[in-house]
Amino acid sequence: MNVDVTIIGAGPYGLSAAAHLRQVKGLDVHVFGEAMSFWERNMPVGMLLRSNWTATQIADPSRSLTLEAFQAATKTRLSTPVPLDSFVKYGLWYQREAVPDVDQRKVLQVGPDSAGFRLTLEGGSTVKCRRVVVAAGIGSFAWRPDGFETLPVPLVSHTSAHRDFKQFAGKTILVVGGGQSALETAALLHEAGADVEVIVRSQGIHWLQGRLSKALHHGLGNFTRQMMYAPTDVGPAGLSQLLARPDLLRHFPRKVQDKFRKRAVRPAGSRWLVDRLKDVPITLGRYVVSAAAAGGRAKVKLNDGSERVADHVLLGTGYRVDISKYDFLTSDLLKSIERYNGYPILRRGLETSVPGLHILGAPAAWSFGPLMQFVSGTTYSSRALVRRFAESVTPV
Ligand SMILES: Cc1cc2nc3c(=O)[nH]c(=O)nc-3n(C[C@H](O)[C@H](O)[C@H](O)COP(=O)(O)OP(=O)(O)OC[C@H]3O[C@@H](n4cnc5c(N)ncnc54)[C@H](O)[C@@H]3O)c2cc1C
Repeated sequence: MNVDVTIIGAGPYGLSAAAHLRQVKGLDVHVFGEAMSFWERNMPVGMLLRSNWTATQIADPSRSLTLEAFQAATKTRLSTPVPLDSFVKYGLWYQREAVPDVDQRKVLQVGPDSAGFRLTLEGGSTVKCRRVVVAAGIGSFAWRPDGFETLPVPLVSHTSAHRDFKQFAGKTILVVGGGQSALETAALLHEAGADVEVIVRSQGIHWLQGRLSKALHHGLGNFTRQMMYAPTDVGPAGLSQLLARPDLLRHFPRKVQDKFRKRAVRPAGSRWLVDRLKDVPITLGRYVVSAAAAGGRAKVKLNDGSERVADHVLLGTGYRVDISKYDFLTSDLLKSIERYNGYPILRRGLETSVPGLHILGAPAAWSFGPLMQFVSGTTYSSRALVRRFAESVTPV
């Protein structure tokens, strides 16, 4: 098969890119992957989205595939914060409307070819194309900190390995991490009947929507709120507006960009978790120094010398981008991609140093800021792709 463009991944970024690129006249776009599969399989049942209503929209070129349009089409009314299962249904509806011909096959390999790129698919067939858009998400980047290699697999897992926590009812579980993922996992485990303790390295939990933020959101009226917070909902008051404009952010010195990025995505928990965690012990300023299996349980030593014995350790330690973990990129191709700290260094149109190879989503955050880590970044990235493609792609 020969096509102009292949998109790898059918999550929010891949779907939005496909919907936009299909507006470019004469461009043949083929999308691979199972629609919304990361959200459906690697996030916990009962999870609520942290992003607000406007930031939970997957961008489409005619702005007709909004959450409001989904509600109208399906005669449903979504609650806020938007529950995970509603967002998955919305994403699948978006896919049926905008990209009904998604090819569910997994891409096993992408390498250079005289025509541009050659993809090998599950089942063995190959595809040649001029451009590849990687929208493969963060599933490959689940971060497991040092100290847990000594625990056998049944005693330790990353939060992304679980869809529901019923299996942990009646068990003692140690959750490691102080961000949204760890805290929400702890709440869901507690509600599922587990005996939970959360171990947090920092001295405090940063809760979102605190008094100041609430005052800005609700107390100061629409105008001030809109001045302070962009609809993309990434970053604190003021900074939110800059982060919503990646082309402007890129003009800031590297050090400043890094500082802004850290500030915008520091570990934090949604305020609606506070009540749900009131009966869950949260131990601050502690981290695991060693862990070992003992009698079928995990024996964990903390930095203050204390010990815990648990049936299972759950790592709510998030994700660290490193595109060498995208195992479908051949080593030749990977070597040619200019990188910094695991991130690809991207140019205009989210293009890597390999002409025709684009990378969207969280790996684009080093070049285009933390907006790229969230659904609301689909507006920027899809439009940037269209601009780049429209100026340079001639159909095969
Ligand atoms: C617990 C949790 C909660 C989150 N909550 C929010 C939130 O409230 N709001 C928000 O904006 N963001 C949230 N995020 C971030 C969220 O992951 C991203 O916003 C979003 O998934 C980015 O979309 P994506 O298309 O880049 O990735 P994904 O949604 O992960 O989609 C990538 C797709 O590519 C597919 N794929 C990968 N490799 C291949 C291959 N070789 N061949 C074919 N297909 C492939 C995967 O199966 C997957 O379906 C959350 C993340 C986590 C972990």
